[in-house]
Amino acid sequence: MPEIGDIKRGIEIGRKGNRHYFIFIECPECHKTRWISTQLYKKLQNNGLCHMCEIHNRKITPIMERFMSKVQKTDDCWIWIGSHNNHGYGKMMYPRKGEFIYAHRLSYILHKGEIPDGLLVLHKCDNPLCVNPSHLFLGTQLDNVHDAIHKGRLDPSKCGKLALGIKHLFQRG
Ligand SMILES: [Zn+2]
Ligand SMILES: [Zn+2]
Repeated sequence: MPEIGDIKRGIEIGRKGNRHYFIFIECPECHKTRWISTQLYKKLQNNGLCHMCEIHNRKITPIMERFMSKVQKTDDCWIWIGSHNNHGYGKMMYPRKGEFIYAHRLSYILHKGEIPDGLLVLHKCDNPLCVNPSHLFLGTQLDNVHDAIHKGRLDPSKCGKLALGIKHLFQRG
């Protein structure tokens, strides 16, 4: 019986004491190697991820799961069925208890990546409850106003204060 430590990675099993068999495995994520008992190995639900990678994965997976559990996909829009604010935008508690993020912004982060500072996540489909990443795009506040006028959400002639704001933005370039 070979000693633990001089067995080829991932293939052989070594024995320690009378009952405990060990297997040499490699973490599929970070490629760190370690010995674990075959009993434990059989129970592993995580394909042999090491402790650190498992913790890391746990942090990432639940947020995606939590998010998707509140999404009803249609052929077109993905409708947010979680809670929403007074303006009809979906929201979710994230990243901490008591803090909220807009569902469409979270969708953008989860599916497409970081939102640069100062940019908004806008809807191509003009449906505030939609979180379909392919309907989301980044824009400035000015883009948002243009978009709103273009899609008929806003009538600038009836909205003096906003029209002034737009004028101001145009002057700034
Ligand atoms: Zn690892
Ligand atoms: Zn949509």
